[in-house]
Amino acid sequence: MTAEQTSGEFYLSIKDLWKAFGTFLALRDISLDIKEGEFICFLGPSGCGKTTLLRAIAGLDLQTRGSITQDGKDVSNLPPSERDFGIVFQSYALFPNLTIEKNIAFGLENAGRSKAEIATRVKDLLKLVGLPDQGKKYPAQLSGGQQQRIALARAIATKPGLLLLDEPLSALDAKVRVHLRHEIKELQRKLGVTTVMVTHDQEEALAMADRIVVMNHGVIEQVGSPTEVYREPSNLFVADFIGEMNQIDSAVANGGRLAIGEDSFACHAHDFSDGAAVVAAIRPEDIIPHEVGYQPESAEQNCIEVLLHEMEFLGSFWRCRLQNDRFGGAELIADFSINAVRRLGLAEGKPMIIELPADRLMAFDRSGES
Ligand code: ATP
Repeated sequence: MTAEQTSGEFYLSIKDLWKAFGTFLALRDISLDIKEGEFICFLGPSGCGKTTLLRAIAGLDLQTRGSITQDGKDVSNLPPSERDFGIVFQSYALFPNLTIEKNIAFGLENAGRSKAEIATRVKDLLKLVGLPDQGKKYPAQLSGGQQQRIALARAIATKPGLLLLDEPLSALDAKVRVHLRHEIKELQRKLGVTTVMVTHDQEEALAMADRIVVMNHGVIEQVGSPTEVYREPSNLFVADFIGEMNQIDSAVANGGRLAIGEDSFACHAHDFSDGAAVVAAIRPEDIIPHEVGYQPESAEQNCIEVLLHEMEFLGSFWRCRLQNDRFGGAELIADFSINAVRRLGLAEGKPMIIELPADRLMAFDRSGES
């Protein structure tokens, strides 16, 4: 099979892509295949290269090396105008002197569509984004969330095969942001348009993406579904960047067990040799609470006694800080349900037993690899 045939299975294929700004490498050896209709999020800290990669896909910045294939066609060296995408930026970027209708119609007019077709399409799009009566207004007369819906309508007006979203929600306040992310996701499903969104907001990526591409320092750290990157992070960077993660210095001993202080724990199996220095990691919600006196049924339960040092009520659960002298002073954070706290009579300053289930206790190489 030729390379072309292989990439033909995917709507968008990025192969061995590098981008340098002078001597600085913003993207290093990026390869990624995206299926038709997928919703992909590029997620990572500021400066990791998310926007640079999106701009390379759009042709707004050309890559230094590597190729991009869209819908079976090599678009690597095509200007944006010859690629098939719609784009929405963080700042709504609507034309302030044009009405909402004219803003949405812009691409359609450029494409030479008839007046009647444009009028129908604009009406449909306004309805689609839930603003059927706003067409005659100007951008400044709409709220931020409404303007972003119009930007979305404008981006999909010509029915592009690819929708690119560059932090489209980050300028909006929290409530509007959450609301709009549902709407965008729903709209994307309805249209079935392949979508790539840049975000630094992990919650947004978890809520919206079919697959998340976690990036750091210009490389891809992991690609996976929201549950995969959250539950099975492939290295310490991903584990730490997405969600809360307890991390304790540890060493591998006795055929894959983790030695922490004087204790040794069964863990989620990884290929480490005995004696390797690793970071033991467990999510706060994976720690199971028990009362003092609880007798574990198996050693795999990894039960230890701790002091419930501090409790913080976070509405739907309690965030608890736990201490155990044998952890070398390290504190564990555990999220316990309101029911568990009530049932077990957990209270600040009291001892308790916690269970660190072996299948949720992970081990990571300190340099970042698992
Ligand atoms: P943010 O979330 O802050 O937008 P990002 O992950 O999108 O970050 P990019 O905007 O892709 O990051 O930038 C990646 C790196 O490339 C950064 O270190 C940035 O300073 C650098 N960079 C981006 N554009 C240019 C440019 N035109 N010239 C020089 N360096 C650039």
